[in-house]
Parts: sequence; structure tokens; C-alpha cells
Amino acid sequence: MRRNIKAYIKYYLFTIKKGADRTMSLLEVEDLTTYYRTLRGYVKAVENCSFSINKGEALGLAGESGCGKTTIALSLLRILPPGGKIVQGKIIVNGTDIVKLQEEKVRKKIRWKEISLVFQGAMNAMNPVIRVKDQIVEAIKLHEHNISKKEAEERVKKLFELVGVEPSRADNYPFEFSGGMRQRAMIAMAVACSPKLLIADEPGTALDVIVQAQVIKLLEELKSKLGMTLILISHDLSLIAEVCEKTAIMYAGNIVEIGDSVSIFKNPLHPYTKGLVLAFPNIKSQKVKMISIPGSPPDLLNPPTGCRFHPRCQYAMEVCKKIVPPLETVEENHKVACHLVNKKNA
Ligand code: SF4
Repeated sequence: MRRNIKAYIKYYLFTIKKGADRTMSLLEVEDLTTYYRTLRGYVKAVENCSFSINKGEALGLAGESGCGKTTIALSLLRILPPGGKIVQGKIIVNGTDIVKLQEEKVRKKIRWKEISLVFQGAMNAMNPVIRVKDQIVEAIKLHEHNISKKEAEERVKKLFELVGVEPSRADNYPFEFSGGMRQRAMIAMAVACSPKLLIADEPGTALDVIVQAQVIKLLEELKSKLGMTLILISHDLSLIAEVCEKTAIMYAGNIVEIGDSVSIFKNPLHPYTKGLVLAFPNIKSQKVKMISIPGSPPDLLNPPTGCRFHPRCQYAMEVCKKIVPPLETVEENHKVACHLVNKKNA
């Protein structure tokens, strides 16, 4: 079994090395803006988001539900649901802007080979009446036309060993798996074509804390064993702090703070990030009353003008209601979009 895992890791490292770029940056997102068309108008789900990830790095994308985290993931793979559209921006993967690529090329060259996604809610992501093995084989054959069914099935076995599930269980149906096993099978499917970037969207949702910890440990292992680049989407800051070197905080479709995780968690500067960090209990410190952020997230059909956080911000000034604060560097590897912080820093 160990030999199989080693062989798979060797194969994986070989395939990612083959496609490796000379620069360190694997993904650069510039000014990404994605809207959903509805009967009531356009939902401005993601606006002017920019970030980059280097090879082998993990970026955590955090924020309240509905802030645009999943829309960023779906935009990166160009699998937005009907009505969803990237209206502006660039998604540069290994030097190619995939926003401009034809759908056929994205399907053949990008999806599952360059960027792959572990969908939110593993419970519903698999077809319950098709054997797990057949679903993964189908995904492999869809993206690698030259592979035979037998080779794909062999790969499924190795993938199951890699994610810690007995290979014979690949013959089962999804309903015969526990929640944790289904999540591991989803991760196996997502890494089946050796993607350079894996996006895990709320991988711990609906799992109990013990299984959640096992799944997070598995993602960490894949990152260190396979040198995989990772985007971890979560509303749970503690998960992100544990796994990711970089953290981006989103609010109402905008990235409001981004930087290395130590700076973000030790020295949060944006009032929203401060609120998020304060809302998390620290089991090592004295018992203190938890402080919540007043108000609720805005309706993105008609988001507030200027800084989208201004209706909930205790420091809001006149300028905040009129002008969108730009994301500016405040220290090395730390950017914030806030008039107050930028004024202090000027
Ligand atoms: Fe608050 Fe103004 Fe900063 Fe927005 S820009 S977070 S409203 S101080």
C-alpha cells in the first residue's frame, strides 16, 4: 500500500513539475468582478477583488455567509450558475488569462488539471445511485481522453489510499459512506488529475468536529506531501489560522484586508476584521464577553455606496459613505481597504 502512495506522489510531482512556470506566482486575480442577473436586477456578488498565490502556498478566504467567497471559487473555475457572469477582471493562471479563454480550452486545460474544487456539502455533491469509483473514473476520463478505464480505476485505488480510505470501498455507493468518507472521496476526485491549485470550499461543513479535524489534517498533508497550492474557503477563522500562510477577509463582495496570516490575526486593522477576530473565543486567555458586529450584511442588489461596511462601522466618516476605500499596503505583506487606516498610514 505504501509503495502505491509513494508512486502516486512521484507521478503527481512529475505532472506538476511538467507544467511548472518559471515565476513563483501560480495564480493572479486582478480586479475580479462577478455579477448574477436576477429578475430584480444584478446581484453584485464580487467586485474588484485582487489577490495572488504563490506555488505551494495556502490562502484562506474568510468572511460571513454570502460575502462572495464561493462566487470567487466558481469564477476561478468558470463554472458560475446560469445568470452568473464575470463582468470585469483577469484570472491569470501560469501566465494565461483564463477569463478570455474559450469554454472548450478551459474544460480541456484548466478545470481539474490546473484548478480543482472540493465542493461545499460533500453529502450532496455525489450522485447517490452511481458507485463512487465510477464517478471518479468518469471525472478522470472527461479530462484525460487518452487514459483507459483500467488505468483510471487503478488511479482511483491509489487516490483512495492517499486520502486514507480502504481502496475496496471505491466500489460502494455514496450512501454507504459516512460524512467524513464522502468528504475524503470528494478530495480524491478533486486531486485525480493532479491539479496545481486545489480549492476547498467549507470542507468542514456538516461534519462533526473530530471528522472536521481529520479532513483539515488530510488537506495539510496533501499540501506538504504533494506541494499543492491551496485556497481554503471558510467562515471559521481558527481553521484558516491553522492551515494557511495567507488570509484574505471578504465583506459584501470586496476583499477588505489581505496579508500573511500572522499579521492578520495578531494585528487586524480593518474594523470588520477586528470584529471577526474578537468574535472568536480564545481558550487560553481569560473569560471575556464576546463582542458581536452590530447589524447584518447588506443586500448586494443595492449595496451601500462608498465603503460597503459603513452602515455597521462605528468609525464611519463622511468620506466612507461616498468613496470606495482602495486596498492599500500598510506594511509588508499586509493590505487594508479602509479610509481610517489609510489616513493614519499616509
Ligand atoms: Fe469603517 Fe470607513 Fe474604514 Fe469602512 S472605510 S471600515 S466605514 S472607517
